[in-house]
This record gives sequence, structure tokens and C-alpha cells, in this order.
Amino acid sequence: MTTAPLIDPFARPISYLRVSVTDRCDFRCVYCMAENMTFLPKKELLTLEELDRLCSAFVRMGVEKLRITGGEPLVRRDIMTFFRSMTRHLDSGALKELTVTTNGSQLARFADDLYAAGVRRINVSLDTLDDAKFADITRWGRLPQVLKGIDAAQAAGLRVKINAVALKGFNEDELFTITEWCASRDMDLTFIEVMPMGDLGNEDRLDQYWSLKDLRARLAENYTLTDLAHRTGGPARYVRAEETGQQIGFITPLTHNFCESCNRVRLTCTGELFMCLGQEDNADLRAPLRADTTSDAPLEDAIRAAIARKPKGHDFDYSRQAIAGQMTRHMSHTGG
Ligand code: SAM
Ligand code: SF4
Repeated sequence: MTTAPLIDPFARPISYLRVSVTDRCDFRCVYCMAENMTFLPKKELLTLEELDRLCSAFVRMGVEKLRITGGEPLVRRDIMTFFRSMTRHLDSGALKELTVTTNGSQLARFADDLYAAGVRRINVSLDTLDDAKFADITRWGRLPQVLKGIDAAQAAGLRVKINAVALKGFNEDELFTITEWCASRDMDLTFIEVMPMGDLGNEDRLDQYWSLKDLRARLAENYTLTDLAHRTGGPARYVRAEETGQQIGFITPLTHNFCESCNRVRLTCTGELFMCLGQEDNADLRAPLRADTTSDAPLEDAIRAAIARKPKGHDFDYSRQAIAGQMTRHMSHTGG
């Protein structure tokens, strides 16, 4: 059964939901988490059944693409049960794509199960191919484990896209190594501009900021880059590197040029719905979910009321070399 589709006040249909299923992670990437994170008590988290009810409500209301993220989604206990429960929406045709963004550490265990549940494409975050640098940037991660995970994913038939955060003075010198490694393995690649999320702690993100305009100009020294017309409604632009044939994306969340086509909302693992990555406004969906376990009507009303508050655009601004519009929440909370 479907209900009226979700359309926001700016006539944008909401067809893409990103769901953070946990705030926990087995890595501590320096741009994402503090080393000593305090995680949420379990009772705050949506249960797998609650996640199913929520996602199913969104699918009924027109969401066609579901991206599962975190924290690290694949460290949540029994998460494959949730993936398998979403398969019915793929089977019915209501859901067009079920996908996941992962650090890759658990892929060797789960790649086959993901494929069996109907996942066909995944994003793996990887900023460097150097063991020591990988250990530095993720603090707790180990590169060989992730590389094994990527092998397993490809062997299972999953299409892998690599997401690399562009960090000045960190992976600048690996630009071509990473690009060619992805090309040699038939993987697309997307660079992400570092965002002013969470607390800055000892890391100064303005120092780490490497503009993708600059990165793209560097790539163009070695490759012929052709702009690709297709957009995903998100903050990514794509080019094709003619020499390798691979697709390369650039995610620049700090520019406003994608807001007008924004088709997405984000759900945290506690059931808060964020209507915009760059704004604090959110709606609590856990309360209506838990208030009535027999009917989804109050939940659907709460979702519609939230979408009616979706703002036109976000407030990030790196101009004047000050971090304006800085968000206080971590990426691991809203799920990137
Ligand atoms: N743990 C999974 C992973 O790393 O892919 C999923 C969650 S992670 C928060 C999602 C994405 O956000 C990753 O690609 C990560 O690199 C990116 N990310 C985290 N903090 C960021 C920041 N401050 N600026 C830009 N991207 C960030
Ligand atoms: Fe974990 Fe992903 Fe954040 Fe790294 S970016 S700490 S892997 S949630």
C-alpha cells in the first residue's frame, strides 16, 4: 500500500533516505570522531524492528533509495536481519535501491549476505593506500582488513565506489595512486571535501581543507576530464577520465549549488529526522513510533510535518577563512 508521496515546500519530491543504524564504529577517523567517544545507551537506539517500521513508512511515502550508514553500519549486531527485511521492498518494486556506506572492515564477513539481500552497489570510505597513514587517519583501523573486504565485495558481485576525503598535506601526494588503483579495479571514485562537523578538538579542519577545485585541476594535468550531465540530487558532480574510462565524483557539500535539487533526508539511529545536512532543525520520529505500536498513522503524520519544514538550503560557509555555520554534531551521528 502506498500513500501520497512526500513533497517538500519547494516542490522537491523526497525519494532518498539515508539511515544511520548505529553511532558506534570500530574506527576513530580524526575528521569524524574524537578518540574517546561516549556512545548512546542502547535503549536510545531504534531497534531493528523500529528501523524496519520507519523505513517501510518512508518507502510507502515514495522513498525509492535507501542508504544504510552510521557510525559503522556493519558493526551493529544482527544488521543483516535488517537488510534482509528490506529485501521485500526491493522485491515489490517500491524500493529501487538498497545500498550502504561502510569503512569496509566487516565486508569480508558480510559481502555475500549483502548481495543476497539485494544490495548491488556499495560505497567504501578509504582515504589512503598507505598502511601507516591509514592507521594514523583512522586511529583504530588497519588497511589490509579493508582491502580484503573490498576483494570480498567485488568477488560477491557488488559494485564498489571508493569515497576519499580530500585532506591537504595528507593524501595530496596519493591523488594519482588512488585514482589509478581504482581504475585498475574498475571502481568509481568520489572525493569529498572535508566538512566542519563535530568539535574541532586539536585538529584544525581549515588547515586540512583541500578544495576540490584545486584537486580537479591537478587531476586535469594528467587526464582529460569530461563533465557528465547526470546528477543524483545530491552534492556530487561527476566527470569521466577519458584515459581510464572511470567515473570520478566531487562532493562539495559547502557549496549551495546542489540544494535546489535536494531529494534527501537523514534519519539518525535514535529516530531524529534531519531535513538538511547543514541545519540543526530535526524532528523526533521515535516518539510517534513508540507511542502507537499498532498503527503507523501518527508516524506518517510526523513524517509529513517534518518534510513540510525542509529548508531551502544550508548554512555552511568557509568564506572569510572562518568556520561559519559550523555544526555541533558529528558525521557519525547524522551518517554522512
Ligand atoms: N563508517 C562509514 C564510513 O566511514 O563509510 C559510514 C559513516 S561515515 C560518517 C560516512 C562518510 O562520511 C565517510 O565517507 C566519511 O569519510 C565521511 N566523513 C566523516 N566525517 C567527515 C567530515 N568531517 N568531512 C567530510 N566527510 C566526512
Ligand atoms: Fe567510523 Fe566512518 Fe566516522 Fe571513520 S568516517 S570514524 S569509519 S563512522
